[in-house]
This record gives sequence, C-alpha cells and structure tokens, in this order.
Amino acid sequence: MKALQQTEKLSLEEMDRQYVWHHISPYREEGATMIVEKGEGSWITDQNGNRYLDGMSGLWCVNVGYGREELAEAAAEQIKKIAYTPMTNSHEPAIELAAKVNSMLNDDYVMFYSNSGSDANEVAFKIARQYHQQNGDPNRYKVISRYRAYHGSSMGALSATGQALRKYKYEPLSSGFLHVSPPDNYRKPDNVTVEEYNLQKAREIEETINYEQKESIAAVIMEPLITGGGVIMPHEVYAQEVERICERHGVLLIIDEVICGFGRTGKAFGHQQFNIKPDIITMAKGLTSAYLPLSITAVRKDIYEAFKGTEDNQHFRHVNTFGGNPAACAVALKNIEIMERESLFERSEQLGAKLLQGLKELENHPNVGNVRGLGLLAGIEIVEDKETKEPAPNDRVAKLIASCKAKGLIIGRNGDTVAGQNNILTLSPPLSSTDEDIDFILQVLNEVFAENK
Ligand code: PMP
Repeated sequence: MKALQQTEKLSLEEMDRQYVWHHISPYREEGATMIVEKGEGSWITDQNGNRYLDGMSGLWCVNVGYGREELAEAAAEQIKKIAYTPMTNSHEPAIELAAKVNSMLNDDYVMFYSNSGSDANEVAFKIARQYHQQNGDPNRYKVISRYRAYHGSSMGALSATGQALRKYKYEPLSSGFLHVSPPDNYRKPDNVTVEEYNLQKAREIEETINYEQKESIAAVIMEPLITGGGVIMPHEVYAQEVERICERHGVLLIIDEVICGFGRTGKAFGHQQFNIKPDIITMAKGLTSAYLPLSITAVRKDIYEAFKGTEDNQHFRHVNTFGGNPAACAVALKNIEIMERESLFERSEQLGAKLLQGLKELENHPNVGNVRGLGLLAGIEIVEDKETKEPAPNDRVAKLIASCKAKGLIIGRNGDTVAGQNNILTLSPPLSSTDEDIDFILQVLNEVFAENK
C-alpha cells in the first residue's frame, strides 16, 4: 500500500524510469523515452501530443497500420466466446488460420503455433533435429546461418544470429550453430559479377557442409533477404543455389519470414520472390500486424509425416502455453482479410518502388554509400568515405536519426557491417501507408541529408 501511495505522486515518466527496463536500450537520461499514447494509420502520438510517422512500423511489424477497430473487435468477440484453450486441443480460429496460411504458401504445410519470432525459430530447430533422428539420420544436428542475420533473442535463436554484439555477453550459447558470410553486393570485390559473387557465397554454405561432414548438418536457416543486419539483398541466383545445395546434401531449408512475410517485400512471403520451396517457414510480426502476439512454424507435410508414429516419443514434445491463443488467431485472420481487401501486398510493391526511387536520389550525398530495398523495406548505408566504403561512425548515424525524429519521422538503424557499427538506416513503413506518407518520408530525409553535409 505504501509503495502504491508513493507511485501515485510520480509522473508517468518518473514511474517509467523507476520500474520499466527497456528493451535493447542504453540507460537513458531523463525525458529521453517516448511514451506512446495512440496511433492512426502510419502515425503515432506520444503523451505530449507530438505526432510521428512510424517509418519502421514499430519493429517492422504493424503492417496494416495503427488504429484498426476491426482487429480490436475480432479479439474482443473471440475472448467473449472462448478466451483460451491449449493447443493440445484446437479451436476454430486456429484451424481457419492454418488453412488460410497454407493456401498462401501453396498447400503443402502444417502449422505449429507459438508467440514470437524467436519461438518460431526455436521450434524450427527442434523439429529439424527430431525429424532427422526419426528419418534414419540421427547425427544431423548442426544449423548453418549467415553472419549479420538476426533470428531472435532466446538461446537457440540467438545462437543462429550472426551479430557478435548481441551475443558475446551471453556466451556460451547453444552448440551446433555455424555461420557463413552473406552476399553483401555493395561490398563485393570489383573483379566478380554480382551473379558470380552470389553463387560463391551460396557455395560457402556447401563448403561448410562438406568441411563439417555433411551427415552432421540438420538445417540451413536464412531470411529471404537479411533485414535486421542492414537490408542486405541477394541476387536472385543465391536462394535457388542454396536450395539446390540443401537438397543435394539432405539438409532442411528453413526460411525466416518473421519480417519478410505478409507483404513486406511486395509478395505474401519474401521467398516467393525467388521461386523456392522451403522445408520450414517461420513467421510472426505481420501475421497479426503485432496487434497480439502470435507466430507460426509452417512445416512441409512430408516432414510432418515423420512425427505421426505412435511409438517411442515420436510426436513433437514441445508445448507453449500461449501459442495459438484464440484471440491472436482471430486477429491474424482479420488482419489477413484486411490485407487482401485493401490489396496491401500489391500496394507494398507499388509504394515500395516509389519510395526506393525517391531514396535513390540520396546517393548523391557524400555519406550515402548505397540505397537498396524491395517492397516497403529499404536500407540507406551511411559511409565515411565512398571510395573505401568505411562505415560511418555511430555519432554521424545517430545524428541523422535524431534529426529525422525532430522533424516527425521515426526511422531505424541496423547493420553490423563491422561488429558494432550499425551504419545502415532502415525504413519499413506500414503497408497501408498513403502516397502522402511516402512523400513525407522522402521530404524529411531530403531535408535531413541536405542539412548534414
Ligand atoms: N527473425 C527475424 C528475421 C527477426 O527480425 C526477428 C525480430 N526482429 C526475430 C526472428 C525474432 O522475433 P521476436 O522478436 O518476435 O522474437
């Protein structure tokens, strides 16, 4: 009671500083934390009434934008009907959502529900290991991923992550996770073509498989394009070559669609840009546009077959309390309905092209080394020197971000070009953004870069 009386006298800011531990943020000085109060479309408003265009859709996730009453109603209706049942049972929204996502993936998958992207990837790793055990290949347990990629914060997903700064203080992590370098076309050697360079990078995976003894490799996990590592776009030959390599060596291909899924790149799923057929697909964020937590690990039916036997623990021994929450599934279904009704995947493709065209003009600036993107996903690589491509130091990048925010635009920052040097500005606005929203993003960025020469 005493503590409560004390808090009554504190402002929200003071209470926040006293009681809330913020995600992946250095300790902040007073007044530096934005307390967000409401949102509408692509815009959010803080408790002081300042409006910002959320150029990152939160954490690349609010795909249909803020303030969708239909989603609130879908959740409320489902909670009134049945708020919860574990996924040892089933319920209508989970069944309908699984069928819907399956149809978006072309009818070959079964869905395992969890709560977050990290969860979905953990599930994928466990399924891959158990599948091989039950499919006559018990020694396959290693997972290959790429440096610079992010796959989540829990110990397995963090082990697959290829960003040293996020990892080294928590080591030792899980064993059996190996990394290869990604295709970074901006930094490729001058003496090879983009296509040849991408094939070389794909073949690095094959070399690793061979060096590690191929019978020990369970899976490769990759995003269609590396998002959180700085929007690193492969040439189209890369994914197909990786798929061929996986097939050749009996290795499962896990595609992490946590960011790229649900229209971010201009198609339902990012891997559909490259015409590949993954064995396992993980998705979260845009699945519910983050209105409620939900993730899916979609598993090809022929892999699921290996879990159907009734003997010796052959089923998948994994459970999580909240995965497949009925309200979250109902929200996901309504969210996908909105995306289809408003043709948001097509819109992402069209608006994305407009955004990229506008951003490309920034390449005239002395510190903009490279602009790249696909759909409503873009990266602006900031360098100190265009010749050497030396990544810009932290303070230069931080200043650009702060200047955007001062003008009402929130943008992101990623990279790990060199460990700890997050020199790539990122954009991932809601797919429901208007043309005016995109104009605003371009206008603010043009002003900010003009003022920071
Ligand atoms: N994979 C990718 C590609 C991601 O970007 C993220 C989150 N940014 C995750 C996995 C982990 O998702 P979550 O934060 O929901 O655990």
